[in-house]
Amino acid sequence: MKTKFKSDKYRKARGGHSRLLDVSCAKCNTHLFYYQKDGPGILKRTYLDRIVDSKVGKSNLVCPKCKELLGVPIIYKKESRPAIRLFEGAVSKKITKSSKLK
Ligand SMILES: [Zn+2]
Repeated sequence: MKTKFKSDKYRKARGGHSRLLDVSCAKCNTHLFYYQKDGPGILKRTYLDRIVDSKVGKSNLVCPKCKELLGVPIIYKKESRPAIRLFEGAVSKKITKSSKLK
């Protein structure tokens, strides 16, 4: 099976196991982006380099439909890595097939 997961030092630091998450607005269910989640644990922040095929950038994460503010940009200090800190319960996530990656 071919997978297009990014594999780098960040992934290795988390055990080398990744899943693809389908991230959507918890309020109105609008799809936001796909996200490569490396390693175990809950999703507290989304690193910009792991957001797949999206216009999400270094600005507030706002739902394009209901305009709810879902997260704010941060730099994850441990890795000096730009990310979006998600508000608790702001988004819903479900594991999806990596074949969705182009
Ligand atoms: Zn929404």
